[in-house]
Amino acid sequence: MKKIQAIRGMNDLLPGQSGRWQYLEGVVSDLLRRYHYQEIRFPILEQTELFKRSIGEVTDIVEKEMYTFADRNDESVTLRPEGTACCVRACEEHGLLYNQTQKLWYAGPMFRYEKPQKGRLRQFHQIGVEAFGMATPDVDAELLILTARLWRELGISDAVTLQINSLGVPEARAAYREALVAYLSGHRDALDEDSLRRLESNPLRVLDSKDPNTQALLADAPRLGDYLDDESRQHFEQVCALLTAAGVPFEVNERLVRGLDYYTKTVFEWVTDKLGAQGTVCAGGRYDGLVEQLGGRATPAVGFAMGIERLILLLEALDCVPEAATQLPDVYIVAVGDVSAASLALAEALRNALPYLAVQTHCGGGSFKSQMKKADKSGAPIALILGEDEVKAGQIGVKFLREQAEQQTLDQAATIELLKSL
Ligand code: ATP
Ligand code: MG
Repeated sequence: MKKIQAIRGMNDLLPGQSGRWQYLEGVVSDLLRRYHYQEIRFPILEQTELFKRSIGEVTDIVEKEMYTFADRNDESVTLRPEGTACCVRACEEHGLLYNQTQKLWYAGPMFRYEKPQKGRLRQFHQIGVEAFGMATPDVDAELLILTARLWRELGISDAVTLQINSLGVPEARAAYREALVAYLSGHRDALDEDSLRRLESNPLRVLDSKDPNTQALLADAPRLGDYLDDESRQHFEQVCALLTAAGVPFEVNERLVRGLDYYTKTVFEWVTDKLGAQGTVCAGGRYDGLVEQLGGRATPAVGFAMGIERLILLLEALDCVPEAATQLPDVYIVAVGDVSAASLALAEALRNALPYLAVQTHCGGGSFKSQMKKADKSGAPIALILGEDEVKAGQIGVKFLREQAEQQTLDQAATIELLKSL
């Protein structure tokens, strides 16, 4: 029979890899705790309308990337392509935004029907952070300072750079869009196919084009910065000043526009040159209009999401995965003969006395030789050996598997003391 395989672009996370994810997720969630951002969880499936109304009808995501289908009741539902819209929906539904501020985070899978490749999957994972109810640049800066600290704690600071820009309020952006369309329309011949399409649907995205001819054309295009409203300009200058004061280096990238419609004012991306084409590991910005757009009271907001797969790739590329994240056992208990009760009891005693140890008991029987082979393969530095003779004598064989040393025979208390001293 033909075996059933996973859906293209949807990966399994295998035991050898999951320790890295737990490490990364652990560092991030602890950091967010220290900034007092609180976790929120919401469903993976939402009404399709939520994403159409928030992300925008003429964006790549809504036009061609959503997993949308009719449920059994013929309602159109969509596997979430991102978390911000869901987060706003959940907050509104539970009155979390009424006359109060919120600093929140979430983690989990997102779904986009894209062409699978390195760093680009159809089910991928994000950790997102959102701050609601604060219009001032201090919170934009806090999010970036927090992210910069995260890169330091992960040891990848040198490999990422912060690019930042301001899109202004919607009116300013509309005026700029008009000027850009007027300019580009005069040079249609020089535009690549994608950009021609975007010129009609989402002209700001032309600024994103990687096509050299389009890039050359953009050198003389009207500049977004010249169209910014005073309030956005001031806000942006203050964000930049706060970053400078905090010692977070950044580059202003006037062509940074982001692919979702809801952004206003500040937008940013953390990018690396270590991962090839998929170099954005974290991206976000301010979205002061979104809550109202989704039917709530006008509420300023700013947030970002980072891609876990890309961060893991980066940690691996830079050799920044700590040894603990490989999740090897510290001790492997070899149990030969009729000693199951003693071996399980020894393991429990070790876990009582040394709660941080990862103790693997050998289950399933087998000869001494085959069990020692498994102990070796487990990667554990130490094997504790129990046979019927040892159990009768109240002794344990202690064998170092990664270094030259005589095997010792100790009682349980001495074994615990030895393990404690390592
Ligand atoms: P890109 O320009 O790479 O397509 P995006 O602008 O679509 O990214 P966002 O929607 O801002 O990305 O998502 C934030 C982060 O989530 C990205 O910076 C990236 O790290 C990650 N991400 C987005 N799409 C994918 C995907 N298909 N596979 C893996 N990670 C992704
Ligand atoms: Mg994308």
